[in-house]
Amino acid sequence: MMIETAHAFMDRAAAKMGLSTEAIEKLKEANHQHIFDVTLNNGKSFSAYRVQHNNKLGPYKGGVRFHPHVDLDEVQTLATLMTLKTAAVGLPLGGGKGGIAVNPRELSAEELEELSRKYARHLQPYIGPDKDVPAPDVNTNAQIIDWMVNEYEALTGDTNKASFTGKSIANGGSLGRDAATGRGGVLALAELLELEGNANKSLTYAVQGFGNVGSFFASTAHELHANWQLVAASDSEVAVYNPAGLDALELQNFKEQGGRFKNYEGDAQQLTNDELLALDVDVLVLAGLEDSVTADNVSSLKAKYVIEMANGPITDKAFEQLTVSKVTILPDVIANAGGVIVSYLEWRQNVAGEHWPVDKVNDELARYMKDAVKNMYDAAQKHDTDFKTAAFIIALERLTQSQGG
Ligand code: NAD
Repeated sequence: MMIETAHAFMDRAAAKMGLSTEAIEKLKEANHQHIFDVTLNNGKSFSAYRVQHNNKLGPYKGGVRFHPHVDLDEVQTLATLMTLKTAAVGLPLGGGKGGIAVNPRELSAEELEELSRKYARHLQPYIGPDKDVPAPDVNTNAQIIDWMVNEYEALTGDTNKASFTGKSIANGGSLGRDAATGRGGVLALAELLELEGNANKSLTYAVQGFGNVGSFFASTAHELHANWQLVAASDSEVAVYNPAGLDALELQNFKEQGGRFKNYEGDAQQLTNDELLALDVDVLVLAGLEDSVTADNVSSLKAKYVIEMANGPITDKAFEQLTVSKVTILPDVIANAGGVIVSYLEWRQNVAGEHWPVDKVNDELARYMKDAVKNMYDAAQKHDTDFKTAAFIIALERLTQSQGG
């Protein structure tokens, strides 16, 4: 997704709620952009970024991505979406995002550690528990965050670990963080069905992108909703499909062992990813990459509900077409907010010096999700609009109400 797409969604919400052009233009601007190079001892050098978009509601919050495609436009877009996401779900946090243009698979373990430490070292004056709290994102993990926290502690003497989230459990991470985004998506869909009076109906669903988020969506659905049936799942190569149902836990286990669906030998037929998108299922879960549903393939979709678990998996044009066709889209800023909600819970545990059992984490996550979906649902009715615009309206209201006060 480009920054223009994020801004188009903001403009749409601003027009609906009657927000002035001046106010919305101000909200598009990032407060600070840190653009720098990280150079390793062996001379290799990489472009690095941290965009601190908005901190009206609390410290900047957002992941750090290591990927060859990382550039300023992408980091700005994702930082903007974080501001809207934290505000939409009612967290006392702002929005930020970071990244390094690098393919971490081409680095040795030593180079990766040096890169991570130097990134944290450069940003140390601008981040911290009350300023900016980074987390993992694409191709970054608890190990990388642990190195960054260690660097931050060495420079500042601050040992309460609240400077970053997504740490390993032994280093102050939270139980439940791994599953949080997928789990949050299930909780969000369940609350929406409840509000619509459809909670007890049986439904079938397909998951595009059975990675961390997609597989935890399926295993949580299996745990909480006996009347939801997984029928298809895909990775970047192929989809597996069985109209009579797939075993979510078995597939998750298969993926955790590094399996590829093209080699899956369970009771399923293979489909292409395009065929998965076109399945006649009740719910389509988009948990792969951004821009998966576009003007080119949107006409093939048959699902009644589409859940945006990835960030921006539906392009602006495709979104408009689905909305006209009365397809219900559960938007990314709500559907995938489980990760940042549990990041916030990790930060709270660190600040208080506590370590919560997983049930407490999951209960708190459920509370935030229920409220967020209810508020989105009410705002959509009040403003006679789709759920994405409604979620943006809630976020913009919170961001403008807090302005100057
Ligand atoms: P992941 O790498 O674990 O999983 C991604 C999955 O998508 C993999 O199975 C991959 O094979 C598949 N995939 C890639 N290209 C595909 C394609 N063209 N068609 C179908 N499948 C494809 O990543 P993840 O952590 O599960 O994140 C998925 C998405 O959710 C990303 O867009 C990410 O930014 C977003 N997200 C993740 C979190 C989180 O907490 N992990 C939070 C919010 C948003």
